[in-house]
Amino acid sequence: MRTYGYGHQCLDEADVQAVSEVLRGDFLTCGPAVRKFEKAICEYTGAKYCVAVSNGTAALHIAALAAGIGAGDEVITSPITFLSSANCICFAGGTPIFADIDPETANIDPVEVERRVTSRTKAVIPVHFAGQSCDMEKISEIARAHNLVVIEDAAHAIGSDYRDGRVGSCRYSDMTTFSFHPVKTITTGEGGAVTTNSPQLYEKLCAFRAHGSHKDGAMADTWEYEMRELGYNYRITDFQCALGLSQLGKLGKFKARRREIVSYYNEHLGLPHLVEREFSNACFHLYPVLVENRRDFYFKARERGLNLQVHYIPVHTQPYYREKFGYGYGDCPKAEEYYSKCISLPLYPSLADDDLAEIVARLKGIIG
Ligand SMILES: *Cc1c(COP(=O)(O)O)cnc(C)c1O
Repeated sequence: MRTYGYGHQCLDEADVQAVSEVLRGDFLTCGPAVRKFEKAICEYTGAKYCVAVSNGTAALHIAALAAGIGAGDEVITSPITFLSSANCICFAGGTPIFADIDPETANIDPVEVERRVTSRTKAVIPVHFAGQSCDMEKISEIARAHNLVVIEDAAHAIGSDYRDGRVGSCRYSDMTTFSFHPVKTITTGEGGAVTTNSPQLYEKLCAFRAHGSHKDGAMADTWEYEMRELGYNYRITDFQCALGLSQLGKLGKFKARRREIVSYYNEHLGLPHLVEREFSNACFHLYPVLVENRRDFYFKARERGLNLQVHYIPVHTQPYYREKFGYGYGDCPKAEEYYSKCISLPLYPSLADDDLAEIVARLKGIIG
């Protein structure tokens, strides 16, 4: 029996070729492929600057540092996300504050964001869950009114559009972060990026990626460099960027197929699923549905060769967040209710029409 996971990378011979070429060249890291990939992300998203890094968590970490988040700062994010969206706030010494979701999209609800703003709020990190953009117009209005930095976590959303622009353009935010983990829409193995339109933020992001060191003015011509803040080694390699460039060229096709698969499931399954807002044209990363007896459904699917996944355990209910910040069940009731039923079905571009029919038949065997 053929088995299906909830996601899978989509690579071809051209990707392999692109990586081999770099491996035969002079630069494995800090070379021209990194700059080319960054430039291509700028052209794709419409942002002025891009800093490619070793993974999506590193992208969030340097974005949090560039935003100036530190001890005593509160930062609002979603509970329905991967751990990194909140962990990056802790890395920088800030306090994560969880705002509940809109259950129809599972995205952070701007009304809930506004309710949690205090005099200590420094930033907000909306997460474009499953690839659908958050309501960025409303979130940026709240941010402007309270002088907050906005960092979009777009780990799910490369290729997605919001209104008449691309996610990552930073039209409604200060910075946007991406992940290129194999399960995401395009991959570099491990990898990530931050986009911004601010030259000041760009300079900080570059420094935090490379030990906090700067090499400007007359230093550019000599051995000299200056470390002006504490940074990290979050560089990405040239061969990873070669893969990323090659993958980016196929993003349009990936998006079209992902949207086709979502339409197919919407039409043929009849299970409650996310609603797409009129401002969104998502490159869907996940297809979560809501089921009763989710644990039972999970095991029955596995017996039928469907290795599904749950996105996500609400972050505020994790032991670390309960113990360190005193959060607990009941803090974000809509997120907790969503979590009790959600499960993500297979969604990746290499699924053929036959595969979809097969997956739907197996799922109908469970639903009855
Ligand atoms: C995958 C993911 C990340 C982290 O990316 P990595 O590349 O795995 O470090 C951050 N936020 C969200 C929402 C993600 O899905």
